Amino acid sequence: MSNSLVLVINSGSSSLKFALIDTVSGEATLSGLGECFGLPEAVVSWKIDGEKHEHMLEAEGNHHQQAVDRIVALLEELGMKQDIVAIGHRVVHGGEKFTKTVKIDETVLEEIDNLSDLAPLHNPAHVIGMRAAMKAFPSLSQYAVFDTAFHQTMPAKAYTGAISQKLYKEYGIRRYGFHGTSHYYVSREAAKMINKPVEDSNFISVHLGNGASVCAIKNGKSVDTSMGFTPLAGLMMGTRCGDLDPSIIEFLLKKGWSQQEVFDELNKKSGLLGVSGLTSDCRGIIEAMENGHEGATLAFEIFCYRVAKYIGSYMVALDELDAIIFTAGIGENSQPIRSKILENLKIFGYREDEEGNAAARFGNAGVITKPNTPMAMVIPTNEEWVIAKESMELLHA
Ligand code: AMP
Repeated sequence: MSNSLVLVINSGSSSLKFALIDTVSGEATLSGLGECFGLPEAVVSWKIDGEKHEHMLEAEGNHHQQAVDRIVALLEELGMKQDIVAIGHRVVHGGEKFTKTVKIDETVLEEIDNLSDLAPLHNPAHVIGMRAAMKAFPSLSQYAVFDTAFHQTMPAKAYTGAISQKLYKEYGIRRYGFHGTSHYYVSREAAKMINKPVEDSNFISVHLGNGASVCAIKNGKSVDTSMGFTPLAGLMMGTRCGDLDPSIIEFLLKKGWSQQEVFDELNKKSGLLGVSGLTSDCRGIIEAMENGHEGATLAFEIFCYRVAKYIGSYMVALDELDAIIFTAGIGENSQPIRSKILENLKIFGYREDEEGNAAARFGNAGVITKPNTPMAMVIPTNEEWVIAKESMELLHA
């Protein structure tokens, strides 16, 4: 294990996820979560051998720093700290500036902070997490891995909005796309599964979790993706509305809703939650649908219909297609969702292999369509692994 560990940090506004990745085995030797930052109940928790441990943070003060300091103390207690060689940070928005992983220094920190306009909930929180980690591990190199970087290969026709170019030039309004690390990882794994070099492979990757996005991947590169200027665009999600007529916003404002109320509605009260009136959790939706709940049934139908529509539209972005890839919490686990999406794609020849679909769950990869029909497969994603691997590669570059 020695000299192969990378600490991966995903710092949010009120939380901080961490994972210690062994870059030789690919395993997470330790993972945990700090949450409720800014509140008196702020806490860091982690699991060892399946057993959960918790450490309450002080009621006040810098909870990001306290959480990182507790993680450092934990790593020392477990005798792992000296084997950590680098720190990798997940960063949501790299704008047009960052097209690949970079080593973090003061200039990079400033540039990530300067992009806060584009990701106000995420980028400032990343910078706080990075500063805390730099203080706690002053001798280690730290790296930033961007969700947007993989999509920087999109052509202008895919990333440019049908709006005045002035808005792009003045404000940077364009499609950026997110979940890039996940789409990158599963497309590389899928290429291995079909025994083709990734540079010759074409996929439509479908990341279905609480957040959800589709990506058209041509010769290993992103050429279009469903999330846009922010992660609100595209598919229906757990609580996000996805694509929506922008006039609805003006309509609600005229009805007396405040800007914040409209924003909260579309980000936090829409999607599976809004339509079902029940839950944002896909498992709850499926269970309620099986019990005849009308709202849950409609939410399921819309969700699967919209994913299939996006997949259909991305056939246009590609000349050939090797496979559709399903990944993330819903994509990796929900047999009924995948089954319905494939049924919605029957015009393209997709035919579910029920046994394959049942088998490819709970961490198992596999093909879920019948032989001699267009292929769909499941690949469990592993964003932490990509962050650790890229950090390690840059460290040794
Ligand atoms: P993620 O954001 O990738 O963690 O995915 C979260 C989503 O995955 C939630 O909607 C969960 O309900 C869903 N999910 C996790 N496990 C399952 C499962 N066994 N069946 C269906 N959905 C699942």
